[in-house]
Amino acid sequence: MKIPFVDLHAQYLSIKDEIDEAIAKVIAESAYIRGRQVEAFEQAWAKTLGVQRCVSCANGTDAIYIALRALGLRHGDEVITSAHSWISTSETITQAGGRVVFCDTDEDTFTIDPLDIERKITPTTVGIIPVHLYGQPADMEVIMAIAKKHNLWVIEDCAQAHLAKYHGELVGTFGNVATFSFYPGKNLGAYGDAGCVVTNDDRLADWMATFARHGGKGDHVMEGINSRMDGLQAAILNAKLPYLPAWTAARRDVAARYDALLGDVGDVITPKAVRGRDHVYHLYVVRTENRDALRKHLSEAGISTVLNYPKALPFYPAYSYLGHVPKDFPVSCFNQSRILSLPIYPEMGTEMIDYVVKCIDGFFSYEPASLYQQTETVRAN
Ligand SMILES: *Cc1c(COP(=O)(O)O)cnc(C)c1O
Repeated sequence: MKIPFVDLHAQYLSIKDEIDEAIAKVIAESAYIRGRQVEAFEQAWAKTLGVQRCVSCANGTDAIYIALRALGLRHGDEVITSAHSWISTSETITQAGGRVVFCDTDEDTFTIDPLDIERKITPTTVGIIPVHLYGQPADMEVIMAIAKKHNLWVIEDCAQAHLAKYHGELVGTFGNVATFSFYPGKNLGAYGDAGCVVTNDDRLADWMATFARHGGKGDHVMEGINSRMDGLQAAILNAKLPYLPAWTAARRDVAARYDALLGDVGDVITPKAVRGRDHVYHLYVVRTENRDALRKHLSEAGISTVLNYPKALPFYPAYSYLGHVPKDFPVSCFNQSRILSLPIYPEMGTEMIDYVVKCIDGFFSYEPASLYQQTETVRAN
């Protein structure tokens, strides 16, 4: 059996007629950039989240950059974000003129550690970008309290967390601005790049819409950038949006089956869903001391896995100038050497899940003991 990491084609086939019709309509109207479909999606997404405004843009990375500029980031301002994320979260801080300050993460949720945020705040700190990594919300109540106490803004990076909830409230509704990606593989994905910013602040929304469209159409009140959602992507997102709750439930079902079947296998630690946080399982990430050998074993069995991400951000060459050492981020470093993302997508059948579990079980049951170690590796220091 071959198990892909995600199967976008299976999802297309499940709603083929609607997608084909949506695409044909855009072509019939030649509404390729912005237009009716884009406006409809902006309204539908704002309504889904229960926020005042949604401003679409070209991708989830631009969304963070646009939000940072809207919040008035100035040269040298420090912005605190997670050491364990995709680089969009930090590269945009630098692009907007700020200084990246990395924080360690919480061991069980992979999200930013609020205690470390407090330690990293200086007089030049202006904001925090928590990431709802893998689909699990960061600890927003505590983060918002810290932000309030120190007069900082918050941008929620929701790229992996469409419809995730924290104490019953949707992520994207806590910060001053929240950003989403609709990259094809995300929980709500277009057939190309797309993204948006959402906010309840009309003034910020107006500024972001103007900035993302060359500083205004007809009257350039400022120099902006060109970051637009195209009509085809919006039409596809409009067609897919009604299915997002069911797809989210299906992801949770896959995760629940993995949880139940992997609970007792080898030294595998299944993702911890913390109370009060509704995980939407963009990724299903287990931890094991035997990650690399297990990954090889699964690959030989036809199962694709991914490392999200191979290293903590501060240890990529792009950030060598910060001069960090592993003990600066002990939890992120420890986790990052043990994480393995297993295949998960709404269309994944139980026989596929069971095959993945069987192969993981096989690795721990039948491989020579020398292939894997049962002792805890020493934490990075
Ligand atoms: C995907 C992703 C982004 C960026 O989204 P793009 O649409 O690919 O630019 C930002 N942050 C995180 C955490 C992501 O996973």
